[in-house]
Amino acid sequence: MGIRLVIFDCDLTLWDHRNVSGLRLPFRKVDAEAVADADGVQVRLFPGVREVLAAIHDQGLLMSVASWNQPEHVFAIFDLLGLSGYFTRPKVEPHPYKERTIAALFQELRADGLPLRPEEVLYVDDRTLHFERVREAVGPVHILQAGVDFTQFADVLAYLNGQNPRIVS
Ligand SMILES: [Mg+2]
Repeated sequence: MGIRLVIFDCDLTLWDHRNVSGLRLPFRKVDAEAVADADGVQVRLFPGVREVLAAIHDQGLLMSVASWNQPEHVFAIFDLLGLSGYFTRPKVEPHPYKERTIAALFQELRADGLPLRPEEVLYVDDRTLHFERVREAVGPVHILQAGVDFTQFADVLAYLNGQNPRIVS
């Protein structure tokens, strides 16, 4: 379908915690899929996330992040779980206006010599409040709602490969 960039939300999209900004630094690695905060509260990747990120990377697609969070918290998790290298210009900002962060991402990629049309972008988030504003700001990106359009993370890869008739954008 010609997708060149996949933008992921973090909380309740990549992992099972709903607001990692509410956790207390420093974080520590628990295992390959999970970290714990200073009080022992765990954040665990959803099953398949690591494998799907690796597969998308291997297919040569770009990936980035649009997260409404404190950047220190999200980047600590990426670093501890070895995910940082997957994301190009990840955007983690402590406000809900993802249309701004995604518009800025488009501009930065264009400045990097990577102009993208919205039809070449898939945006994955568990919350619908961002979808309409993002589409108004940058155009008709493809959208998947985590937990609604898919429940198994591997379905994101199936969607990219045009193999999942249950999902429509
Ligand atoms: Mg979320």
